[in-house]
Amino acid sequence: MHSNDTALAEVQPQHWQTALQNAVKDPAELLALLQLPEELLPAAKLAAKQFPLRVPRGFVARMQSGDPHDPLLAQVLPLGAELIATPGFSTDPVGDTLAKADAGIIHKYNQRALLISTGACAVHCRYCFRRHFPYADEMAAKSSWQHSLQWLKQNPDINEVILSGGDPLSLTDAKLAPLMDGLAALPQIHTLRLHSRQPVVLPERVTEALIHTLKRSKKQIVLVIHSNHANELDQQVADALNLFHQAGIHLLNQAVLLKGVNDHAEALISLSRRLFSMQVMPYYLHLLDTVQGAAHFEVKLKKAKQIHKVMCANLPGYLVPRLVKETAGEPNKTLVT
Ligand SMILES: *Cc1c(COP(=O)(O)O)cnc(C)c1O
Ligand code: SF4
Repeated sequence: MHSNDTALAEVQPQHWQTALQNAVKDPAELLALLQLPEELLPAAKLAAKQFPLRVPRGFVARMQSGDPHDPLLAQVLPLGAELIATPGFSTDPVGDTLAKADAGIIHKYNQRALLISTGACAVHCRYCFRRHFPYADEMAAKSSWQHSLQWLKQNPDINEVILSGGDPLSLTDAKLAPLMDGLAALPQIHTLRLHSRQPVVLPERVTEALIHTLKRSKKQIVLVIHSNHANELDQQVADALNLFHQAGIHLLNQAVLLKGVNDHAEALISLSRRLFSMQVMPYYLHLLDTVQGAAHFEVKLKKAKQIHKVMCANLPGYLVPRLVKETAGEPNKTLVT
């Protein structure tokens, strides 16, 4: 992309930016779109005050009209249950993350560093720890990458850079480009990894221009998407994923095990199969972060293990995601066995 084009793209919002902005944010509208009873509205409005509703229209279109238990809806609809304080669930279950986020880098695991680079999320997932930290939106605007690139230069043992945080693909191509060029100049970096839910919730984001921008890094690229249910993966998502695949970008998925969304083996087996049909390998199945407001999503450890066992028995090994949880102070994600 020429710098002129980049400048133009900044002035004229692209199709995906319009779709991002046009997300459904009003609980009353969401209920009306899905022909759901108005009784759900007061609680939804109350819970949305704590963590606003946000869901792209394309994602709403994949929900079953009239079904208050739709597995996609359950991930985004604010509920009264969120307002109940539950022992063991805190507002900051990944405290160390947030403590270090100020510097823009989290270095917890060998050889890998995580850049908190991010912009806003296209969707607000009710189970996410971000529900208590919407301020992360502001960090993206300030990010010029200089600090992060400088840090990487001084830490030559790092060979994989992970873009994460909120959603790095909320950043425009123009914002991503200088990072790609900076990484291209660092020979010790072999791999660039992105963690993003946008290819699933906002497939409009995946353009040829994005692929070009990422390829500027000249590194191996891994994209970890985040899908929790097969119904999320329609033809438009398949087409978006295919663009990455065609460009030689490795595709992995991480899911969160969520009560009322995917807490039975059949749902997760379908998810694995559907991902594979779209060139995506299942990577992690996370246990829920114990964040306040998300207790109603918790799947007990015993049940989680049972579900995983059934998956193991009914899928080829390469389609079984690793069941993991995040434990502070460990050198890697903890395998649940
Ligand atoms: C999850 C995570 C990583 C990546 O771990 P992998 O097991 O390689 O996927 C790296 N850094 C931090 C801080 C993480 O939380
Ligand atoms: S960080 Fe991921 S899980 Fe959390 S709200 Fe954003 S898209 Fe959803």
